[in-house]
This record gives sequence, C-alpha cells and structure tokens, in this order.
Amino acid sequence: MSKRIFIAALGTETNQFVPFPTGLRSYQEHGIWRGDATRHAPTNFTAPLHVWRQEAEKRGWTVIEGLATFAAPSGTTVRSVYEGFRDELLAGLKAAMPVDGVLINVHGAMVADGYDDCEGDLLSRARAIVGPTVAIGAEFDLHCHLSQLMLDSADVLIGYKEYPHTDTMERAAELFAIVADTIEGKVKPVMARHDCRMIAQYRTSVPPISEFVTRMKSLEGKDGILSVSLSHGFSFADVEDVGTRTLVVADGDRAKAEALAKQLGDELWENRERYATRYLSIEEAMDRAASHNQGPLVLADRADNPGSGAPGDSTFVLKALVERQIGPTLFGVMWDPMAFRIAEEAGEGARLRMRLGGKSGAVSGDPVDLDVTVKKITRGARQPYGPVTVPLGDMALLSSEHVDVAICTLRTQTFHADAFKAVGADPADYRVVVVKSAQHFYNGFVGLAKEILYVASPGAADPDVTRLPYTKRKTPFWPKVADPWK
Ligand SMILES: [Zn+2]
Repeated sequence: MSKRIFIAALGTETNQFVPFPTGLRSYQEHGIWRGDATRHAPTNFTAPLHVWRQEAEKRGWTVIEGLATFAAPSGTTVRSVYEGFRDELLAGLKAAMPVDGVLINVHGAMVADGYDDCEGDLLSRARAIVGPTVAIGAEFDLHCHLSQLMLDSADVLIGYKEYPHTDTMERAAELFAIVADTIEGKVKPVMARHDCRMIAQYRTSVPPISEFVTRMKSLEGKDGILSVSLSHGFSFADVEDVGTRTLVVADGDRAKAEALAKQLGDELWENRERYATRYLSIEEAMDRAASHNQGPLVLADRADNPGSGAPGDSTFVLKALVERQIGPTLFGVMWDPMAFRIAEEAGEGARLRMRLGGKSGAVSGDPVDLDVTVKKITRGARQPYGPVTVPLGDMALLSSEHVDVAICTLRTQTFHADAFKAVGADPADYRVVVVKSAQHFYNGFVGLAKEILYVASPGAADPDVTRLPYTKRKTPFWPKVADPWK
C-alpha cells in the first residue's frame, strides 16, 4: 500500500565560544526552502532530502516536504529564530498527518538561547505529534552532541561516517532503507549510545582512524545490527552532551545494541592516542615551515575554521608568518569585508598600508598592519565543496613582502585550492599555504600538497580542548584527565 513520508531539515553547528549570534540572516544566506528544497539544486545540507524523495517515489510513496533551512556554523542561534523555524517545521508535519514516516536532516550540534539540545527538542516534539507508532528517522553530522533525548525520540539515527563529509547521500539512503523497513514491519530498530569519555578530533581520510570506519561498516547489515555510527562530537560548545559517542541501531535487541556500542567505544578508547588528530603549536609549525624546501606545505589553521563556527579572521598564524618571514606564503581565505571595501576602493595595482583581520573579538587576536599591493579583485567568487559549489562573496588578493593574503566578504572555510585561484593565486606556486579550515580542505588540497600539517593556535575552535571553559559536562573526559574511567 502507498505510504506517506514527511521530509524536512533544520540545523546549524553552534560554536558557543564566538562572540556573535546566529540570526535569521545567516539562515537566509544558506537558504530557506518552504516545501521546495528538492526542486532546487542540492546544497550540502539539503542533499539528503533529494535522496529521500527519490527513494520514496521509487516505491510509489507520497512525499510531503516541509521546511528545510541551515545556517553556516557560527554562534548561538537567536531564540525566536529557532522557535520560529521549529514551529513552522512542526506545523508542516501536523498538516501532513496522517504519515507513516518522518525523515529529518539535522546537524546535531545546534544550540539556541534556552535550548542546549535543539535536535532533542525538535525530535521529541515531532514524536508528540505523530505518536509512538510512526517511524522517525534523522540523519546527523558526526560533529554532534548525541543526546539521550534524541535516541528516545527517534526510531533510527544515522551519522555521517566520513570527515570530510563525503557520504551524506549514502547515509541518507541507508536511513531511508531502515525507516522503510520499519514502516513495512520488516525490522524493529532499537538504539544504544556509549559515552567514550573523550573530547577529540578525528580525521577519517587517513589511517588509523579510517580503519575504524571500515570496521563500523563491516558490522552493519548482519547479526541483527542495522547501523553503526561514531559521533565524533563537536568540541566548541558548553553543553552536557559534548564529547565522543558510539551509536548502534540493532533489530529488536537493545542489549545487543548496548553491548556493541560499548565494545566499539572501548576499542576507540584503547586507540585514542593513535586515532585523535595531533596538532602542532604555532612555533612548531613555523619551524617546520622554515625548514620546508619543496612546496607547498599546507598548514590548517584549525582554531579559526569558519566551518567550526570560528570567525575566519584570526591573525595568530599570520602574525607568526610575518615575524618569521616564512615566504613565499599564501594565507587565507580570511573573512574581512572591511578590508575588501578598502582594497576595492583603492583598485587593482594600488599600494597601501592595510589593517588585516582581528576584527571579530579577542578570539581573533590583534589586527596585522601590512604594506600591500592589491593584486586582484574578484566579485561573486565560488569554490567547490564535493559535488556542490559554495560562495565566498567578493575577494581580494593582497600581496606583501612575505605573505599574500586572500580575503573574502562571505564568511566561509577554505574548501578547495580553487578558492585561491578565484582571486588569481595558485597554491602550487607557494612554498607554504595556510588554510582557514580544520579538515574539509583536505580533498581539495591533497593533490598539490607536499605535506599537510595541523596547527593549534588559540581561537574559537581551539583544538586543545583542555583550554576550553566547559561547565555543563558532568563526567570527566580525556585528555583533560588521563583516565576518566577511574
Ligand atoms: Zn561536521
């Protein structure tokens, strides 16, 4: 018999250590679709809805599409903005009743004023509307706070496995399949999570943590295990559920889900030193850069990754590059609309002294003053991110004695070498390239980089989590304490 499926999306990644909120405009910039996201080109956040519609229509099922919106990672979402979107999404669900299934793409690390766990709040309200027997599934980013309320409210939760997130559509298809089997009575999903008592970052592109991804996949689809996820966690939030968790969805057997979640958590714990990303201090990174002879060495300015909600205008690494005279270096893409305005007024070829970066607050450090030549101005620049392209706004390339700085007017992380090429700088021509990104840059630079290193500077997305001011997490965690299980 034909079934009715409601699909929707609401999310952002909230960094609570940046000094600005996320309001309506941030959602408008990415897009707000009121029931028609799948009639537009997919974004990295709406892509799962396209998959769900296709899968449902393949079966001859009816799709009712609700609100879909996302904001680029940034500070805490304004309360009225969250409540407005939530209530609109839920009103759409209510109007769509009766439905057989609900599929929502969330982020998992969305925080609004008064709501530490937006996803738990949203899913529990959806559950209240549809009742206990309708299947609810949600897909989440692995940079997630996996709360018990999320597990209690949904039937199936599936997280991305890859970072960079190259598998959002695969995971969406898996989620659809399990929800469809649930609706048809073929499976009865039950879930369990396990707190690994770790707060860390993991780069799944490379061994040894890539082996853990392979291991998770090898367990799925047999012995009563429907799905396995690793929620890496999102470190830059002061919420109770911050940290790394395993998640297992089993068919009808909760004890089995619990046992495997714990077993995988224990494996992760045993391998924590190997799996967690290692970072260099700025001094260590500059030493490596100074002795680096074949280019380019790519340095990830991790703490100022706009993809983690950081401002994108921090100067700690820029200052070190100038002081150490590490050249020729390409730095960016730095968010500085004010500097762009000045460069645009001066025009290509102009030479002037400019104040760069450091405008967002203490997390960005002090501005850096440099004598620069405006090499190029580009309007409406874009860069690839997986199968889609994302806007950078307007860009300028500012060339100084030791470092060329690429700036943009739309806050975004550097996903790809083409972001620099858009403003006339080819990263392959430089000895050292610094990118404002944590890991999503990887696929777009690995082909040209001789070496890739990760730098821990201070900032809103400081990877040294022992320095972060958590107040709400109740259980101890590594690496703050050597053994949080004691
Ligand atoms: Zn993520």
